[in-house]
Amino acid sequence: MSEAAPPPLPGGDAASNPPPPPPPPPPPPPPPAPVDAPPPIDAPPPVEVPASLDTPPPLDPAAAAATGDSGLAAFQVTEQTRTYPCRQCGAQLVFDIATQKLACPSCGFSTDIDTASLQAPTEHDLASTMGQLRQFIATNAAPQVTGEKEIVCQNCGGHTTFSGTLTATRCPYCATPIQRNDIQDAPARLRVDGVLPFQVDEKTARTELEKWINGRWFAPSEFKKYKETGSFTSIYAAYFTYDADTTTDYRGQRGDHYTVTVGSGENQHTETRTRWSSVSGRVANTFDDITVLANDGFVEKRVKALEPWPTQDAKPFSPEFVAGHLCRTYDQDAEEKLPEARSEMESAIESTVRRDIGGDEQRIERKDTDYHSLTFKHLLLPIWLLTVIFEGKPFQVFINGVTGEVQGQRPWSKVKIAFAVVAAVIVLAIIVAVYAASKSKSG
Ligand SMILES: [Zn+2]
Ligand SMILES: [Zn+2]
Repeated sequence: MSEAAPPPLPGGDAASNPPPPPPPPPPPPPPPAPVDAPPPIDAPPPVEVPASLDTPPPLDPAAAAATGDSGLAAFQVTEQTRTYPCRQCGAQLVFDIATQKLACPSCGFSTDIDTASLQAPTEHDLASTMGQLRQFIATNAAPQVTGEKEIVCQNCGGHTTFSGTLTATRCPYCATPIQRNDIQDAPARLRVDGVLPFQVDEKTARTELEKWINGRWFAPSEFKKYKETGSFTSIYAAYFTYDADTTTDYRGQRGDHYTVTVGSGENQHTETRTRWSSVSGRVANTFDDITVLANDGFVEKRVKALEPWPTQDAKPFSPEFVAGHLCRTYDQDAEEKLPEARSEMESAIESTVRRDIGGDEQRIERKDTDYHSLTFKHLLLPIWLLTVIFEGKPFQVFINGVTGEVQGQRPWSKVKIAFAVVAAVIVLAIIVAVYAASKSKSG
């Protein structure tokens, strides 16, 4: 992470409109502790307050216990934020992708993220969980997620605006990673069950990006200056994954091809015809981790193409995995995203039915699907996002933070295409002229 200020982020923009920077007090760069001095383990981090004092009782106590903290976080009660001050030098710890640890970029202190005591990501029954949640929301005040929330950086005093569904960002003045505490822990919100930590670090991501951009023919030269004009950030996006067991009763027609010889003499030929017969049957399907993005502002088609996600590798959620990276909470909940998962399931079911019918062609007249179990998990998945504003329009390029898969939008240069067309026409004209000349000689 080299950016000092969070870049524009669709739907969850922390800094597109930052307040005029107050003369920022210089961030204290405390000298690293001498190598031989033991780290002051017993010194309490500044402004530490137990999470329980400012966190309302959770909906699901088991899940609450699961969102453990290693004791490294500093909570700011008034702001409802958390940061990770380095116990050795006071700078801010971030989740370091290369080592998969919480590490200090200033003094090199690092510490493991202990997930052993946390609950592994588990599935929730969709209907009952959403029912409970709706009931809770109806009788309690829900946290303000969609509006703007201004918080004061406890490191430098600068004001940062969290807007949309952003839950973690960096202070635009001193780059301190700040997390909103009141959303991921809010009882009126679905809890994060798991996280796929970033595996692709910034250097690798930039290399992949470079290859992708350079492979885009006819991209305007200005677009290729993305390094100066674009914003490149690591962001955890909110996803729901769905599991289901289904059985489907169907009725339809199976078509088998056969050939007949028709006509006679010169006109004799064969024709393919289809013999249809009525069929009915029952098929079963099992779905595991159908993955659906729950954030607005991303180009959905491109993000979809980042799949597959190795969701089986998801770790129990600890906010430490997010430190130093951007993070969003969901814009639509597990019930609102269900239709997308269902339509994926429906098309898989249809394929199963067609295979079951067999033959050369199939007609499905009706199918009734029973969902025996329908469960979900809420995961945070890692994405490197490049946004380039070109001719007033944003173009987004995404990199799967685990697999390195690159998918993105790109502009086309009209000038370059026009030149290429002209060049092609000239080449064609030369070929035609040469051919004509050789013909007239030989003829
Ligand atoms: Zn440090
Ligand atoms: Zn700050």
